[in-house]
Amino acid sequence: MQKTIAIVGAGLGGLTLARVLQAHGVAATIYEGETSATTRTQGGLLDLHEETGQVALRAAGLHDEFLTLVRPGEDAKRVVDRHGTILFDMPADPGSARPEVDRGELRRLLIDSLAPGTIRWGHKLASIRRCVEGGLDLTFADGSATRADIVIGADGAWSKVRPLLTPAKPLYSGTCFIEIALASGGQDCRASVAAIGSGTLMAVAPGKGIIAHRYADGCVLGYAALNKPEGWVRSIDFGDPSAGLRQVADEFDGWSPLLTAFVTQSDAEPWLRPIYALPVGLKWDRVPGVTLVGDAGHLMSPFAGEGANLAMYDGADLASKLVEQPDIEVALTSYEERLFLRSNDAAGRSAKNLENFFGREAPQSVVTLFDHS
Ligand SMILES: Cc1cc2nc3c(=O)[nH]c(=O)nc-3n(C[C@H](O)[C@H](O)[C@H](O)COP(=O)(O)OP(=O)(O)OC[C@H]3O[C@@H](n4cnc5c(N)ncnc54)[C@H](O)[C@@H]3O)c2cc1C
Repeated sequence: MQKTIAIVGAGLGGLTLARVLQAHGVAATIYEGETSATTRTQGGLLDLHEETGQVALRAAGLHDEFLTLVRPGEDAKRVVDRHGTILFDMPADPGSARPEVDRGELRRLLIDSLAPGTIRWGHKLASIRRCVEGGLDLTFADGSATRADIVIGADGAWSKVRPLLTPAKPLYSGTCFIEIALASGGQDCRASVAAIGSGTLMAVAPGKGIIAHRYADGCVLGYAALNKPEGWVRSIDFGDPSAGLRQVADEFDGWSPLLTAFVTQSDAEPWLRPIYALPVGLKWDRVPGVTLVGDAGHLMSPFAGEGANLAMYDGADLASKLVEQPDIEVALTSYEERLFLRSNDAAGRSAKNLENFFGREAPQSVVTLFDHS
């Protein structure tokens, strides 16, 4: 009898896992808290690495479709100081081994690749417990419940599955992002938009930065980043978005108006994104029938550009192990051994890069980072 597999979370990790399992004829159900694929905009670009994200897409049989989503020209990178002086300028590389795609389009590709009914939308996991007869009972916020032999937590930073494996919790990194956007294409600040170049602009200084990406259709998405205590982060009032944005812009006093315009002119609802990370080197002992993929197991700052790539790779790797190895515990042990090694390495780099981005040596430390990559 085939074991029942419940995947909690329809992010890039959970979706890739389900897709690769289904490609090998193994059924799995994804329980996702959001009510539909369009509940939340996914925003932002991801560069998919040849050795991780793209390996996962090949395993999923979706690499050719992925290539049709690539946005050539948008991988250009520019680093400037707070006056807008260009310190590093890397043009777009049409043959890049790390092509950029829109996160929402990538997620849609994975969702559409699954058998109908695979994703149970509106199923927010509320609790999970092992049952005496074997297997695990999952109860959802709407009161419904299900039982599964294998449960995979792909439910991101605040995973409800993780406590079955480890008491570790994400810790605030000290850096907070505030989403900014010029959805209209920034008609009122054309000079600022032009300053981005064709890809991503990173304006950095000790303790702060403005990161803006220009899409081919002209719209701009990005973040203001501030090293601030959690209390300060909570004190910003975005009930009045323009007052909240002014409070953020005040932190960039003395910066070129060309750069602060990305904050003051932002025309999207501002979202706070405090950056949290799980401890570097996190491991857990084997717990029968349960494991984690992606951020649930190794949340890290975005500064190595690895989180989504690893989530997809985890999903594909775990699926292959479950398909190849009839003994579930042997499969999960083998998956986790490699998971711990790769996530430890990436989490270490992410933490170091975060320091480089907004540390005392910025912006020179960021230039050095790109010069050596
Ligand atoms: C600002 C920023 C920029 C980033 N840039 C990059 C980048 O350039 N490259 C890169 O590789 N990575 C990047 N990352 C990291 C990347 O976004 C994550 O690592 C990646 O999304 C993790 O995927 P996941 O599937 O593990 O989790 P998520 O994408 O978080 O998906 C988890 C899913 O689980 C669902 N869920 C949560 N709780 C429950 C519950 N209780 N019940 C049911 N469902 C639940 C959620 O609704 C969600 O759909 C960035 C992150 C941030 C914050």
